[in-house]
Amino acid sequence: MKEYTLMIPGPTPVPAEVLRETSRCMIDHRGKEFALLITEIEELLKQVFQTDNDILMLTSSGTGGMEAAIVNTLSPGDKVLVVSTGVFGDRFIDIAQNYGLEVDVIRPPLGEAADPQSVEEKLLADREHKIKAVFLTHNETSTGVENPIKDISKTRKGHPALFIVDSISSLGAMEIKTDEWGLDIVITASQKALMAPPGLCFVSVSKNAWDACQNSRLPRYYWDFEAIRKNKQKKQTPFTPCIPIFFAVRKSIELLLDEGLENVYQRHIVLGRAMRAGIRAMGLELFPREYCVSPTITAVKLSPPLDKDLLKSLRERLREDYGVEISEGQLYLADKLFRIGHLGYVGHKEILYTLYSLEKALRSVGYPVKDSPLQLAEEIVSGI
Ligand SMILES: *Cc1c(COP(=O)(O)O)cnc(C)c1O
Repeated sequence: MKEYTLMIPGPTPVPAEVLRETSRCMIDHRGKEFALLITEIEELLKQVFQTDNDILMLTSSGTGGMEAAIVNTLSPGDKVLVVSTGVFGDRFIDIAQNYGLEVDVIRPPLGEAADPQSVEEKLLADREHKIKAVFLTHNETSTGVENPIKDISKTRKGHPALFIVDSISSLGAMEIKTDEWGLDIVITASQKALMAPPGLCFVSVSKNAWDACQNSRLPRYYWDFEAIRKNKQKKQTPFTPCIPIFFAVRKSIELLLDEGLENVYQRHIVLGRAMRAGIRAMGLELFPREYCVSPTITAVKLSPPLDKDLLKSLRERLREDYGVEISEGQLYLADKLFRIGHLGYVGHKEILYTLYSLEKALRSVGYPVKDSPLQLAEEIVSGI
């Protein structure tokens, strides 16, 4: 079986000791052992989310949590504000529109972050408090942009709209302070910074969000937060949970907390810096603007002679010759960029090997590499 150096924005590499957890004997999800398991996971997760809010666990990918946040808090015809910086912000728009909500959109140019002032203006202008929720993406995985959630959260100033944050490619790699920043719903999933296989989604729910649930009239069944809460009191889930991923996540969050969250955040910052320095040394250009680059995903601009076709050959060489997987751009970004994920279980080895392989593969497809990426990158990662 081939082992890949998986440098995509998720799923991410899983430490062997986490993977081993998934091969445990199956247990009764209505029994004592599972009750202990979800209690432990919630306690661990609260530290990573930095919250005292309830954390609900859904057997689904991250998008399930995004849909759940919408159907549990809103009613048909409600007005919502989505700040979209790319494909994942657009996903909130699509889900909200599918459920008949009236969606107002703030859309900065691609590669730019959301401007807190633009949110503040919308909220100030909404004197009648028609906007029921504001949707934000912490780390826009499609463009490699980090949005300033902390600053945006300060723009609320008494406006009662719920702040709902997709933190799927950031939580566990980048700082997020759910309670201090007043975030009502924060969504993440097991397969990104949390270093576990795909299958589990986590959603924190504030008191205000619970109040909104009481009045919300959108249809729901599998995602019903109230049913999940009732079962949670019995330390169960309403339906059969993906038990192996629960085992995995307990282990992986223990690893994160053992390393120390501050150290984890710092590691991602340094690795991101090294990756970008290597990319630039080779003569490639970043897609996002400098002020908002994500520490966990590097999006690289496609510009001549590197186009979509050459990228296809490049990715093939990386995969076949070096076992390195990187991602192309999604949807309307396919001819604009490619992406390298460096979140979760990554260290300097992966960064340096990826840059080494990228240089070789670029040369082999005829790209005029400027300088070797390794010297600069090595200097930077030697700092961790
Ligand atoms: C990965 C990701 C998602 C969810 O994707 P799923 O495939 O449903 O897990 C949502 N938002 C962002 C920012 C992501 O990176």
